[in-house]
Amino acid sequence: MAAAPRCELCRARAAPLRCPGCRLTRYCDVSHQRTDWISIHSHICHLLIPVLGPQPCFHSEKDRKHGKEQLLRRQESLIAVALSTAQGFVWSGQPLEAIPAALQALRFSSRVFGSGSTQLVPIYLLLAEASTGEHCQHGNAGKGAGRLRQAAKYLSQAQWIVLQTPDCSAALQSKLHRGLGLFSAAEGNLDQALYHLANDVSSLWHDWLLSSLHRHQQVLQAQAEASPFSEEEEVIEDRMTEGRREEGTRMLRAVLKVREQGPLQHPGETARALHALAMIHYLGLDLAKAQEVGMKAFDLAKQLPQQDSLETIGHLLELINAQLSHTT
Ligand SMILES: [Zn+2]
Ligand SMILES: [Zn+2]
Repeated sequence: MAAAPRCELCRARAAPLRCPGCRLTRYCDVSHQRTDWISIHSHICHLLIPVLGPQPCFHSEKDRKHGKEQLLRRQESLIAVALSTAQGFVWSGQPLEAIPAALQALRFSSRVFGSGSTQLVPIYLLLAEASTGEHCQHGNAGKGAGRLRQAAKYLSQAQWIVLQTPDCSAALQSKLHRGLGLFSAAEGNLDQALYHLANDVSSLWHDWLLSSLHRHQQVLQAQAEASPFSEEEEVIEDRMTEGRREEGTRMLRAVLKVREQGPLQHPGETARALHALAMIHYLGLDLAKAQEVGMKAFDLAKQLPQQDSLETIGHLLELINAQLSHTT
């Protein structure tokens, strides 16, 4: 038996109600049905039938191909309607109404393009903007803080995709910065949310840098094996671009600043941000800075109950020292 259908809006509760128009979308109660109708469902109810309803049976390869293309086009136009509806609500100062529409766009976009596609970035940014705007309008503690945390999650998803896409367009990157800026500008109970965003951002950079460093090591090793006596400057193909390095440095410095002023002190997370910064300096061949920041991370990591990060940071310091002795 198939799993019991869940409510279209909250995705949490069982859904005994069914939309009489499409007979495909289900809700837990009338209020969720109404909220979804106002935000997006009234615009896409009729569009859903050919996309989610039973698909025709094709008899020839040509028909099948045509049917597939048609389905794709229908899904794309559904995404476009959902996205422009959500954007319209945000522009007209109704962020709360924008959220179900934007979530609908997100759902179809991940189906069509995949969950790591840059097509999702503008949608995550819109969701973050809607959640932040909702916080500003109803910015009392509690619900508002929850919305800001949600906004922080959407922003880090957007950033994650951008980080995973080396040839990501400058336009999309600046869209991301605008999103992060809007978020920082939100007034009210910001410290906590900023703190969470800082942690998300620093853990993304940390993981991403660790894998870059790993690749860097592999390339160095391959080169050493190929020509052990070569004195040439090594050229690392996938070395971080200068722009990305600068962005990482800026982000991590901001994270460290938030951590300094933050409400809580977790040396483990500060050590992680310092470790990430040291890796950026190392990959950018700024060895003196890498050593300085790396030592700070190492000293902090020594105080932690878990020693696994100590080893990784120690390894980085060895690499830095080896390079330093090589160059002087
Ligand atoms: Zn519901
Ligand atoms: Zn419907």
